[in-house]
Amino acid sequence: MNIILLGPPGAGKGTQSRRLMDRYNLRQLSTGDMLRDARSFGTEVGELVSASMDAGEFVTDDIVISLIEHEISGSSKGGFIFDGFPRTLGQASALDNLLKRTKNCLDAVIEIQVNDGDLVQRITGRYSCSKCGEVYHETDSPFDQSDKCKKCDSSNLIKRADDNASSLSIRLMEYYKKTSPLIGYYYAKGILSSVNGLLDIDIVEKNIIKILEN
Ligand code: ADP
Ligand code: ADP
Ligand code: ZN
Repeated sequence: MNIILLGPPGAGKGTQSRRLMDRYNLRQLSTGDMLRDARSFGTEVGELVSASMDAGEFVTDDIVISLIEHEISGSSKGGFIFDGFPRTLGQASALDNLLKRTKNCLDAVIEIQVNDGDLVQRITGRYSCSKCGEVYHETDSPFDQSDKCKKCDSSNLIKRADDNASSLSIRLMEYYKKTSPLIGYYYAKGILSSVNGLLDIDIVEKNIIKILEN
C-alpha cells in the first residue's frame, strides 16, 4: 500500500504517519527529515537546502525528487507513506512516473484539514525526538523536555529552529500557493479523501484507518 498524507505544516502528517507505519508495516518517507539530514552534509546542495528551509520556502523540485527517487528504488516492505511529499504539481507528476516505473501505484491520498489559527499553537509547541522522530507537543501531559522519548528512550527531545510564528506564515503561503492545487489533482484521479485534523489524535487515526480499509 502506498499512501500520501497531505496538509499544511502542523496538520498532523508526521504524527499520523508514524502510527500508520507501525500498523501497516509501511516505510515513512518524510522529505522534511531527509532534507534536514542533507543540510548537514556541508555540500553545495546542503547549503541550498539550508537557505530555503531557513527562509520557510520550498526546496527546489529537482533536489527533492532526486532524494525520493533514491529512497523509492530501495526496499519498500509493505509500501510507502509519503509525509510532506509531494508538495508541488511537478513533484506529484514525478512521483506518478517513479511509481509507474517500479510497477506501483498510489492507493490513497489523505488530506488532513486544520484551520490556520490552530496551526500556530501546534507548530510553536512542537518537540520531536532527535533519534527516532517521534512527535510531541508541550501541552501533552505529562510533558517535560528533559523527559525520555516514550518510543526509543532517548533523552534528546528537540524544538526545530523553523517552528516559530513568522516562519509558519511563510510556510503556510507556500502551502496554499503550491501544495493546495494537489487536492484537485488527486480528487480528479479519484483517490482523495479528507479527515478533520482538529479531532483528537486517536480519532484522526481511526478515521484514516476507516478510509484505508473501506
Ligand atoms: P512541516 O512538518 O512543518 O510541514 P517539514 O519537516 O515537512 O515541515 O518540512 C520542513 C521544510 O523542509 C519545509 O519548510 C521546506 O523548506 C522543506 N521541504 C520539506 N518537504 C519538501 C518538499 N516536498 N518540497 C519542497 N520543500 C520541502
Ligand atoms: P506535520 O507533520 O503535519 O507538520 P506534526 O505531526 O508534526 O504535523 O504535528 C504538529 C504538532 O501538533 C505536534 O506537536 C503534534 O504533537 C501536534 N498534533 C498532531 N496532531 C494533533 C491533533 N490531532 N490534535 C492536537 N495536536 C496534534
Ligand atoms: Zn525517540
